[in-house]
Amino acid sequence: MTVKELVNKIFFIEILKGLALTLSRLFTHAVTIQYPKEKRLIRPGFRGQHALVRDPDTGWVKCVGCGLCAAYCPSQCIHIFTTEGDDGKKIVEKYEVELLRCIYCGFCVEACPYSAIALTENYEYSDYSRDALYMTTEKLLSNWDKFMSGKKGEDYFKKFWRPLSEDFGTPEGQAMFRKAGKG
Ligand code: SF4
Ligand code: SF4
Repeated sequence: MTVKELVNKIFFIEILKGLALTLSRLFTHAVTIQYPKEKRLIRPGFRGQHALVRDPDTGWVKCVGCGLCAAYCPSQCIHIFTTEGDDGKKIVEKYEVELLRCIYCGFCVEACPYSAIALTENYEYSDYSRDALYMTTEKLLSNWDKFMSGKKGEDYFKKFWRPLSEDFGTPEGQAMFRKAGKG
């Protein structure tokens, strides 16, 4: 043991340092917030509940079912269902996410070449059932309308997820998502 360590031990230097820090904080503004009355400021790029991007041109799901997001997802919690249409072309049937397995890494957003999946600012979605936390295509699309529609959604990709902003338009020649209610 060095002399310095011995002196620290005898005079409880570390404890005194800790007490000094506590005392210095007694008269400063509290960093805790009274949730849910008070809420934290959400910064751009926050990784909350998922949303499927609504195509501004078609008004429908933008995803083309390429599966890149699902391949990248470390939790394997993205499920994409595709079929073949009468003309032999691929049709995307469903896009679903198991929120209970997601680790909110954001890889799905990064992997998507068409900016078709987003992580919204919504973190208030706790529930008592597994079903409520299983995101169907409809729930994911309605999240876009609730949390990311208009300029907010555009800014999300243009400002935060550069350089994917260049791909914000509808992709040509790709599989399309089956419209709701169509067999
Ligand atoms: S945020 Fe990460 S874990 Fe969650 S769905 Fe996307 S890729 Fe998977
Ligand atoms: S969200 Fe993007 S990466 Fe995932 S399947 Fe759809 S188009 Fe492909």
